[in-house]
Amino acid sequence: MSSSVMKLEPALQLGVDWSDRAHPTSHCWLSYCSKTSLPASRCAYLSCTISEIMNMETCVECGSCTIVIHIDHIINVENVANIHNYIPPCRPSFSDTATADDHIEHDHHYWSSISKLLKPCMLCKRKTLLRMVTKDNTRTSTSAPLTSASHINAKTVNILKYSNKDFLKTSSSLQCLWCFKSCHKQCWEIISDGNKQYKCDYGKFKNIIVHPQWLQRFSSHPVRICARFCDDVDESNTSVTPLIVFINKISGGRKGESIYRRLLRLLNPRQIFLLENNDNIKQALSIYSSLRNTRISICGGDGSVGWVLNVLAETCSSLNNPPVSICPLGTGNDLSRVLGWGRCYSAKQLLTMLQQVSDAQPIPLDRWQITFEPLTISDTTERVRNACGCFCSLLDHPKFVDQTNRPSYQNHQAPLNTRFTNYLSFGLDAAVVLDFHDKRIRDPSRFTSPFKNKLIYLSISRTYFREFALWRAWDLRPYMRLICDGNDLTDSIRHCHTIVLLNIPSYGSGTHPWSRRLSSKALTTPNRQNQSDRLDQISRNTSDSMFPSDYVHDEYDQTGSYAINSIRRQDISDQKIEVFGLDSIQMALIHAGFRGRRIAQCSEVRIELIRSMPVHMDGEPFYLPESIAINVTHAGQVLVLRKQQR
Ligand SMILES: [Zn+2]
Ligand SMILES: [Zn+2]
Ligand SMILES: [Zn+2]
Ligand SMILES: [Zn+2]
Repeated sequence: MSSSVMKLEPALQLGVDWSDRAHPTSHCWLSYCSKTSLPASRCAYLSCTISEIMNMETCVECGSCTIVIHIDHIINVENVANIHNYIPPCRPSFSDTATADDHIEHDHHYWSSISKLLKPCMLCKRKTLLRMVTKDNTRTSTSAPLTSASHINAKTVNILKYSNKDFLKTSSSLQCLWCFKSCHKQCWEIISDGNKQYKCDYGKFKNIIVHPQWLQRFSSHPVRICARFCDDVDESNTSVTPLIVFINKISGGRKGESIYRRLLRLLNPRQIFLLENNDNIKQALSIYSSLRNTRISICGGDGSVGWVLNVLAETCSSLNNPPVSICPLGTGNDLSRVLGWGRCYSAKQLLTMLQQVSDAQPIPLDRWQITFEPLTISDTTERVRNACGCFCSLLDHPKFVDQTNRPSYQNHQAPLNTRFTNYLSFGLDAAVVLDFHDKRIRDPSRFTSPFKNKLIYLSISRTYFREFALWRAWDLRPYMRLICDGNDLTDSIRHCHTIVLLNIPSYGSGTHPWSRRLSSKALTTPNRQNQSDRLDQISRNTSDSMFPSDYVHDEYDQTGSYAINSIRRQDISDQKIEVFGLDSIQMALIHAGFRGRRIAQCSEVRIELIRSMPVHMDGEPFYLPESIAINVTHAGQVLVLRKQQR
């Protein structure tokens, strides 16, 4: 996992150190950022003589124990083994089988100094000590807040023989970095070391924190860290669900970055991973593969979620993966909405959400595979002639892309993944997304916040919708053949500018184009049920009055050759996929609660592309060349977590 560690200076690595040199109490250095960091009063190096104010260029901070230090000290410590003679040890994050003593006591508090108690002391239950503290003492404690806690911790992690007098300075209050309980230092010192009553219980995240003793490093070759429970966890206890968190740092206008820093402090830094490449996801999964009840949380948009689900599909057999919850950082967040994790990220709710992962319910989610196959051109053009009866529609039509020779289109001729769990769409919807991505690649400086991104996206959609609205009579039939479960349904895409294959009941940032009433039956309350019934009724009436009578195509008005006699509720684990079409006006109307034109509910789809066309799969747009067939088939299921409704 060396790629997750960024080189800042030749001798200093940033991020969680997974190299062989890592020590259980190694720090997790991050660039010091005075905005997001806790206020630092002084450098943690014991004999630091640099008096300048801590600033970003000269300092790094530890993401786990929050000490701040001048970069020079770390680089200048010649013997890394002796580093803890100069720098306080960090909160232990794993245990080393080569050095660990079998009889070592686990679950110690890990203290950091705080200037005053915000909550009553866990021991004497008071905020202030009864004994008077002299002014002089108070001043000493605030100017050297780190050292006295370090002294206690040094005994705990059992690696040091401190003689430096700085460690003996006093500070009045302590807070545990695992459980966040706090106490007076004097109160703590009168408790005997071995008193089990005062062991750390890991606080409100006790069900998801990976205890350091569960991560064991074996000195076999290659040296590796493996997670497994020690005999401290009862086999029958299912409420303990250690969590692996994957974070996309750049998702949600870089909210990922601040979540990363926050979780390094709150959980064990070795359970937090940045999404970088397939290998780093696989290594994370392999470290935790033997830890019972492990769950996963993905902080990112639909694209990040799809990415991790894909790697899970490669590494775990169907329904055998650690179940996945979502912290929604994208713009659409459709799967997150369906599973109850919310439509957008809220910093306030992050912690509540983490606690809810433990009692969320694992449910299966269908995943779908796409395969490509070349088509012979003569065949297909002949079919188009027959199907449309009018070949001229090919010559005169609105354009999905202005210039097909843009480098970003040419580089996107095939998707990175071949599986999807949310949707696969063809035509207008994909054209807008492809254009948006192309603009973002060419000029990233304009796309700096989720709000700006949304505005740019809306302006691109408006341009496309305006143009396609003028072409109501034109549709996708000259572009493709649609075959569902072996039935040729090309005729039913009349008037459609977008074709969507939808696996989940939410699409395009929370719309329900298949049917609100049918899709979310299980989750809606009676009131919302009535409202959705009404919207479905309006949907039918509006379509009837606004558009030609053959416009509506559903269970009430069957005109296609392939009749859907009974439309079933959309279900994410029924091994069926829903196929529907939208014209440019419907693409806007679905956001007001209307639905699209239902075409089929089937277990196999084949789309034969006669002309090149933009395609959009789970947040990833690409541009497929002409004369290609796409076969969509069911590809097993993956376990996801549905939040318990309270
Ligand atoms: Zn210093
Ligand atoms: Zn640290
Ligand atoms: Zn504690
Ligand atoms: Zn006390």
